[in-house]
Amino acid sequence: MGTAFEISSAQFIKEHYPVLHQAAFGLGSYQIRQVATIGGNICTASPSGDMANALVALKARCEILNADGRIRIIPIENFFLDVRKTDLKKNEVLQSILLEKNTGEKLYSGYIKVGTRRSMECSVVSLAYHIVSDNSETIVKAGISIGASAPTIKFAASASEYLLNRKLSSISSDEASHFAEKVMEYASPISDIRATAWYRKEALFNICKSIFDTFDKLKTCSAL
Ligand SMILES: Cc1cc2nc3c(=O)[nH]c(=O)nc-3n(C[C@H](O)[C@H](O)[C@H](O)COP(=O)(O)OP(=O)(O)OC[C@H]3O[C@@H](n4cnc5c(N)ncnc54)[C@H](O)[C@@H]3O)c2cc1C
Repeated sequence: MGTAFEISSAQFIKEHYPVLHQAAFGLGSYQIRQVATIGGNICTASPSGDMANALVALKARCEILNADGRIRIIPIENFFLDVRKTDLKKNEVLQSILLEKNTGEKLYSGYIKVGTRRSMECSVVSLAYHIVSDNSETIVKAGISIGASAPTIKFAASASEYLLNRKLSSISSDEASHFAEKVMEYASPISDIRATAWYRKEALFNICKSIFDTFDKLKTCSAL
C-alpha cells in the first residue's frame, strides 16, 4: 500500500483522481506523508481519515484477502462500521483498492479540509467531491462524501444524485444551498476538543455551497 507522499506525487492520480491527490497532499505534514500509508488510513477507520474520505467519494472498492487466500471485494463505504471499527475479520488484510475508470469528458474533483491549523491536524470537517460532466458541462457522474461529521465517513447519496443532469457551470445559489442541505442529511457531528457540533455543521454547509463558486471562478475543468 502506497504512502500519502507516493500518492500525492503520482501524476496519474493528480490528473484522473484530483480528490485523492489533494487529500493525500494535505495529510499531516511532509514527514508524516512519508510513512502514512493509504491502507493504514483506511484501516484506522477514523471519521476524519483524509485519503479514506476521498476514496468514498470515488466509490472505491476494497479487495480483502484472507489467510486461506480467498478474496472478497466490498464497497469502501461498507468497510467502515463505526468509529475505528472496520468490516475486516481477524484473518483478513486489505490487499488493494480498486478505482472506477472515469467516463465522461470533464472532471471537477477536489478535497476541502477544515482544520484548526493548516498542517499536522486532523480535519474538523472535510468534503470530498468527484464530479464528471460531458462536453456541454452536464453532470453525468457525481460522488460526494463527508468526513469528521458522523461516526464514519459518509457517502452523500442523495446529494450526489441531486447533481446529476444539472449544468455544472450554471448551478444557481439556490441549487447550491439545496445541494448543501442534502449533504447535511448525512451529518451528525459531535462536539469535541477541536470544534462544537454547531461549528462543524456551519462549516460543512458553507464548504458544500462553496464548491460551485470555485467552479465559477475557475471556468475550466481538467480533461480526463
Ligand atoms: C502527527 C500526526 C498527524 C496526522 N495527520 C493526519 C491527517 O491530517 N489526516 C489523516 O487522515 N490522518 C492523519 N494522521 C493519522 C495517520 O498518520 C494516518 O491515518 C495514516 O494514513 C495511517 O497510516 P499508517 O501506515 O501509519 O497506519 P498504521 O498506524 O501502521 O496502521 C493503522 C492500523 O491499520 C492496520 N493496517 C494498516 N494497513 C493494513 C492493511 N493493509 N490491512 C489490514 N490492516 C492494516 C494496522 O495494523 C493498524 O491497526 C496523523 C497522525 C499523526 C501522528
